[in-house]
Amino acid sequence: MEPMQCPECRRKAAIREIQTPYFSCSGCATKVTVSKRYILAAKLLSTAIAFGICYAAGLSGAIFLICWGPAIFPVYFIVLGLGFKTVPPYLERYSQDGSLGLDNG
Ligand SMILES: [Zn+2]
Repeated sequence: MEPMQCPECRRKAAIREIQTPYFSCSGCATKVTVSKRYILAAKLLSTAIAFGICYAAGLSGAIFLICWGPAIFPVYFIVLGLGFKTVPPYLERYSQDGSLGLDNG
């Protein structure tokens, strides 16, 4: 199993095909999603980068908190965009019920 590969048919997905929260594989139509660990890492990184930007901008107190939250979102999409190109994510089957990954299939 390689990064960017469909877990079902092993077809490699193109970066432009990847959507959140999930997308259909163009080879077998299986609903696939970027691995949860990858998304979590991207969110943590974005939160940290947004913090750094607000800190570097010299913000403080309530202004800092007001700017930090909204700043995370654009940073998150930039991180994902660059991340897909530099560190290709693993893909996994999308499960709508959020079964905590305890399925036996
Ligand atoms: Zn597929």
